[in-house]
Amino acid sequence: MTEPGRLSIIATPIGDADDISLRALRLLRDVAELYAEDTRVTADLLRHHAIPRSTRSCHDHNEQARADEIIEHLRAGRSVGLVSDAGTPLISDPGYRVVSLVRAAGFAIDVVPGPCALVAGLVGSGLPTDQFCFAGFLPASEPSLRARLADLAGFDGTLVFYESPRRLADTLAVIAEVWPSRDVVVARNLTKAHEQWLTGRAGEVGAALGAETRGEVVLMVGRGAAVVIDPDERIRALLAEGMDARRVRDVVAAETGLPRRDIYSRVLALRG
Ligand code: SAM
Repeated sequence: MTEPGRLSIIATPIGDADDISLRALRLLRDVAELYAEDTRVTADLLRHHAIPRSTRSCHDHNEQARADEIIEHLRAGRSVGLVSDAGTPLISDPGYRVVSLVRAAGFAIDVVPGPCALVAGLVGSGLPTDQFCFAGFLPASEPSLRARLADLAGFDGTLVFYESPRRLADTLAVIAEVWPSRDVVVARNLTKAHEQWLTGRAGEVGAALGAETRGEVVLMVGRGAAVVIDPDERIRALLAEGMDARRVRDVVAAETGLPRRDIYSRVLALRG
């Protein structure tokens, strides 16, 4: 009987092609089957490291079928590697279904740790690292963005997001409104030629960013000040400024971390 194979989850660079471990290089060369999110992107990495080999695709649209295929390889005793376009597979990248199905089928998973943009951004940000929450990509629509920020408002640590460079300015504008005094760090193009760090309040970072809409971005927000906000007082003040009820709900929910529905009932009650 053939020994069952192993699936290796292999981290690859997020910019500088030399940021790759010796173990990752050995596995990229030696695994019997290598699955890649985009075979052309991985072909560039393999070429850079002079590893001549073929890969098969495994992305969001064929992951289920590829998982079945990978399990067949493992049953036949072949070793399998999985990479994404950049960084650590499964982190805002495909692979979760493969790993959970491979585990459920009883095969071993090896992880080959390495670059991950959220970790690189966080550790270089100067923001506290004792507790952090990685919340993936922020929603594109403004109401959903405000709702997500409100959900995260009460988290007592650094918030870490991936963000599209095209939406970054708009996102910073919303953060400037709901969390005007929190520290914000934008890490652009980490480990690449035009690496850039922008720090300050969201309004300042937005101004420094200007019209730039290129690159890849990790957006981080520091924890809120330990001030206790009286929701009723804040609602009254914002209504007195002429802010409409829904906007007041979003701002106060984001500032206090209280449920938007509860805040909205208070807004309606206080508006009279
Ligand atoms: N799996 C990757 C990882 O481990 O970081 C993340 C993949 S996700 C599809 C791509 C997002 O990660 C980008 O849109 C950006 O937010 C972030 N990212 C990736 N590379 C980056 C870099 N060099 N600098 C800043 N952010 C980066």
